[in-house]
Amino acid sequence: MDFQLNDEQRMIVETAGKLAKSFGPEYWLDKEESRAFPWEFLRECGKVGFFGFGIPEEYGGCGLGLTEGVLAFHEIASKGGGLGSILIYLFGPVFGGMSIHKHGNEEQKEKYLRKLTSGEMFVCLGLTEPNAGTNTLNVTTFAKKDGDDYVINGNKIFISGFEDAGAIVLVSRTTKKDESKKRAFGLSLFLIDLPNEAIQCTSIPKHGINYLRTYELGIEDLRVPRSSLLGEEGKGWHHILDTLNPERIMAATAGVGMGKAAISRAVEYANQRQVFDSVIGAHQGIQFPLASAYAKLECAWMATLKAAVLYDQQAPQKEVGDLSNIAKYAATEAAIEGIYHAMQTLGGYGYTKEYHIERWWREVNLIRLAPITQEMTLNYMAEHVLGMPRAY
Ligand SMILES: Cc1cc2nc3c(=O)[nH]c(=O)nc-3n(C[C@H](O)[C@H](O)[C@H](O)COP(=O)(O)OP(=O)(O)OC[C@H]3O[C@@H](n4cnc5c(N)ncnc54)[C@H](O)[C@@H]3O)c2cc1C
Repeated sequence: MDFQLNDEQRMIVETAGKLAKSFGPEYWLDKEESRAFPWEFLRECGKVGFFGFGIPEEYGGCGLGLTEGVLAFHEIASKGGGLGSILIYLFGPVFGGMSIHKHGNEEQKEKYLRKLTSGEMFVCLGLTEPNAGTNTLNVTTFAKKDGDDYVINGNKIFISGFEDAGAIVLVSRTTKKDESKKRAFGLSLFLIDLPNEAIQCTSIPKHGINYLRTYELGIEDLRVPRSSLLGEEGKGWHHILDTLNPERIMAATAGVGMGKAAISRAVEYANQRQVFDSVIGAHQGIQFPLASAYAKLECAWMATLKAAVLYDQQAPQKEVGDLSNIAKYAATEAAIEGIYHAMQTLGGYGYTKEYHIERWWREVNLIRLAPITQEMTLNYMAEHVLGMPRAY
């Protein structure tokens, strides 16, 4: 067990630090306020090779693993990139890149992977539906076979990045749930270029991450060729499972990063803000909550790194799953605590946009819900780690 970073990893963290300086909190504030997609950040990540983690060199990747991705984006998020920087990574290499690399046919790999690793495009994920959120298997969007094509009809909700994405991974049923041998069978993934006039979208006004708009989709008679299938027909759920752990690991990285960013802002502020005779940072009432949250963030960071290393080492899926859920849960709780106390440390200034903490507070609320809710990580742990009966 070696806790030291190797030379290559150190270089990655250093490069990430430089990138974070060019795309610091002011950049994200501007994107949030103008509701503009962070194309410049996406392109720069592609240029420095940060979208190549987990993708082989022959398709434009760098051959390194998720661990290096986690190290890079932890550095960017904790230096002020916040959740936005991590979401961009999720929408590039994770939803798109890893799924296409693992399950795509040669034509799909050739067509999309280089564009994804270079930051030329990104892929959005069309999974959630009004009646299929936490219970994903309730998806009713249906792809009906018609000769060599499929015709897809249905509705999706909370689909982020739809209008800026170059393609969507659309989750549809190809066998109705009550006609499937098992509930997890009968779902299929389709990789579809965007825009497509058979998919209408309406933007959903929301609490945070406004640089990545979120949409409700209406899909009407969307005709796609068989070659749009990503992976095997009916095995979509099993294909999705492959990206669930990396998504949770990245959500944990985001939590740790945002929590540390907020705490470091608060420390800087507390060490110079004088209210009575000494700076407020000298009061234990200010120090202890920040130190306590920091300790929890650092523990969550250890669990996150361990999950990423196990994933790269192709450890048994259960081991990776246990750690990914633990890390996602712990990092989110620690981040909420850290950002809450950081905001309080800044008094009224914490409530203003200028100091960025209010934005991270809005951003952290998203990782309570997605890619998995905190309650569902606890359900997972109760059942799979502690060995208790399934509660639902
Ligand atoms: C801003 C935003 C962006 C998103 N982007 C995307 C995207 O790009 N693509 C996509 O496909 N989806 C996306 N989502 C959807 C997101 O993944 C879902 O919102 C999430 O999975 C929860 O589903 P739901 O909202 O339907 O909540 P529900 O499933 O209705 O759950 C409601 C509450 O009940 C709790 N609950 C449910 N069952 C149990 C149980 N058995 N035990 C304990 N508690 C339970 C949940 O934890 C939750 O707190 C996004 C969501 C948001 C808010």
